[in-house]
Amino acid sequence: MQHAVQADEARTTVPGDEAATGGASGPAPGPAPGPGVERAAVEPVNKGEQRNLYAKRKKIYPRRARGTFRKVKWIVMAVTLAIYYLAPWIRWDRGPNAPDQAILIDIPGRRFYFFFIEIWPQEVYYLTGLLIMAALALFLVTSLFGRVWCGYTCPQTVWTDLFLVVERFFEGDRSARIRLDKAPWTARKVAKKAAKHVAWLVIAVLTGGAWVFYFADAPTLAADLVAFDAPLVSYVFIGLLTFTTYTLGGHAREQVCTYMCPWPRIQAAMVDADSMVVTYREYRGEPRGHYRKGESWEGRGDCIDCNQCVVVCPMGIDIRDGQQLECINCALCIDACNGVMDKVGRPRGLIAYDTLENVSRRATGQSLRVTLLRARPIIYASIILVVGAVMLGTLLTRPTLDVSVLRDRNPLFVRLSDGSIRNGYTLKVINKEHDTRHYKLSVAGAPDATLSVVGESGEAAPILTVEPDRLASFRVYVTLPAKDLKRSSLPIDFVVEDTASGTRATYDGIFRGPER
Ligand code: SF4
Ligand code: SF4
Repeated sequence: MQHAVQADEARTTVPGDEAATGGASGPAPGPAPGPGVERAAVEPVNKGEQRNLYAKRKKIYPRRARGTFRKVKWIVMAVTLAIYYLAPWIRWDRGPNAPDQAILIDIPGRRFYFFFIEIWPQEVYYLTGLLIMAALALFLVTSLFGRVWCGYTCPQTVWTDLFLVVERFFEGDRSARIRLDKAPWTARKVAKKAAKHVAWLVIAVLTGGAWVFYFADAPTLAADLVAFDAPLVSYVFIGLLTFTTYTLGGHAREQVCTYMCPWPRIQAAMVDADSMVVTYREYRGEPRGHYRKGESWEGRGDCIDCNQCVVVCPMGIDIRDGQQLECINCALCIDACNGVMDKVGRPRGLIAYDTLENVSRRATGQSLRVTLLRARPIIYASIILVVGAVMLGTLLTRPTLDVSVLRDRNPLFVRLSDGSIRNGYTLKVINKEHDTRHYKLSVAGAPDATLSVVGESGEAAPILTVEPDRLASFRVYVTLPAKDLKRSSLPIDFVVEDTASGTRATYDGIFRGPER
């Protein structure tokens, strides 16, 4: 496997260009490729070599990009981080007998709370449905816009971006960081590196800390954590997530996307020639070459070979080499190249979001193809709509009372001294309301049946009491006169009725007797 990497940069110093003041490293500075534009010398390693899966990592020093897509990434980063860190602190009033945390995975109570939705263990299919919808949404977005999930919202991208912000704050932009890494160890270098790693660790601890707040009442757990009174498992998970955040966001970075994540391989099946991806418009850019102010653009391409698109790339690749596995569609190279085009007075969009189909159509002057409405995204969107509608429908109409009955297998039945037949059952009643409910139990399908519930009174229609938001289990006996049993089994219905609201739940059961 080949990898595109950045070599050290060589640059001309251009007054007013912030990055150019960072000094040079690597090859000797070359001539400025265009007026007001510096040149960064880059050696993409994916040219003319077999990709080596175990190639030694070459450190990437992404330069800060400026432009529309960088702004979008800042906004997405701020919103996603705010959601992650603040969501456990949002309160949601569910009444006196339920937790007031809007998003809570209550493992001891075996519940998942999401604002007004409460998922019980036996309703885990809702989570399955949600995961299916999330996967299909990812397929849909990828088929339309390539790996925008990876470039903008994937946690690995967001945290790596955050760690890069910290790195730039302490060590400076690309050139300064390269110089610092090459410089001998001095007190100043140690101080800068130490400050960066401490800040990274603080972020990592906060990230791990925020995660555990999703599993317990956040204010209570926060107080317990500070007082070292929280459950051990909380500290273990904070430690685990601190380690993974620090390692993946601070050190592994692009290696996670290239080597660890399966999505780059899978997404190849979602993307086709009509997907919007970050593309280099080769027909416009080639033949590339340096440009001097006042020169004619006749007979040459718009690319001035400045490599600015490469030095901002967090994956260290050169988009001019075409579509590559490493590209996360973050569009920072678009921002960089647009800035260069502004400086040399050429139209923006030499690198742009486009489809491969339309890039070749533009090259040959054909009319462009509208690509959003095509079979693949329509199929994905249709499945999402169907699954979403089914889930929403069942969620809005699901009962607040649920009953299940398990008949005793051994013995199948008992013949009493008066000749009547008795069956034993275990009845489970789920009260999903947030107050105590009383339920009347009866049996339909056997008019002469008598009911008794261990520990409950009222033989004709025993009253079952269930605590709020709880599942209660009852031992139930149904007795029938032998003459009522014409066959060895008789279908009966257990009917549970809420005495306050009249809500009913029915469970189909079987009454067994001797063979006839
Ligand atoms: S594509 Fe744009 S940014 Fe990249 S080298 Fe050419 S001119 Fe420079
Ligand atoms: S090539 Fe461009 S879009 Fe792809 S990862 Fe690099 S900067 Fe982002």
